[in-house]
Amino acid sequence: VSRAEPLGRAWPELRRRLAGARRLAVACDFDGTLAPLVSHPKRARLPRRKQAVLERLRKLPRVSVGIASGRSLADLRRRVGLRGLHYIGSHGLEWCAPGGKLRTTVNARARARIQQLADELERRVRGTPGLYLERKSVSVTLHYRNAPPRGVEGARRVAAQTLRASGNSVRLLAGKKVLEFLPPGRADKGRAVLELARRLRLDARRGDVIVYLGDDVTDESVFRRLRRGDVGLHVGRGPSRARYRLASPAGVQQFLERLAEVRR
Ligand SMILES: [Mg+2]
Repeated sequence: VSRAEPLGRAWPELRRRLAGARRLAVACDFDGTLAPLVSHPKRARLPRRKQAVLERLRKLPRVSVGIASGRSLADLRRRVGLRGLHYIGSHGLEWCAPGGKLRTTVNARARARIQQLADELERRVRGTPGLYLERKSVSVTLHYRNAPPRGVEGARRVAAQTLRASGNSVRLLAGKKVLEFLPPGRADKGRAVLELARRLRLDARRGDVIVYLGDDVTDESVFRRLRRGDVGLHVGRGPSRARYRLASPAGVQQFLERLAEVRR
């Protein structure tokens, strides 16, 4: 299924398209795309040079920059540490425009339901090596990156049991080494990024372009929704619907610098 081609040879053609675009919305996933993947989600850091190039892009005329993540918005904003960006947190359940307030579609009742489910999950995974439960603003995530193979099986089993016990009143979303429980609904990064483009009044027919970079299966929801003329870049190996491929977060750095240069 993977059609993504390494950027190298495609760059001259892509360069022309990016240079010719009227307005540009550049949106990036955080973990594994901007920040290198680490053993524990609390250790993820945005490298200085990435922060600098995002800031450079943001200041360019006719360029808007957004970050879309499964992290809670508050956590995401703290880790990126830049003003003037559009933030999308919790897979689109939270968002914030530059200088604006945090907005969310999740009400207090749904939030309480998730916290209750987190308590239940905690009881079930207690003592299982390599599992880490992260309580977030509107969701809860079970991380199994550090679990031995049997622990991974256990995590999946516990997730399925918890989902059944909840009467399927929550959504289970699988990502890279994570299982995430969210309030019911259809929110995903794809909808959120298109909504951002709408709020920015981007018009594909007039030559406005969305550029999206992501490494995870949850980023496929964006690649699926990009329109003709938009630019999707998948980071790392693995199948993707993105048109282009970058090898690693270091490749992302290089791409963003080239992009800033093209739009200068
Ligand atoms: Mg990621």
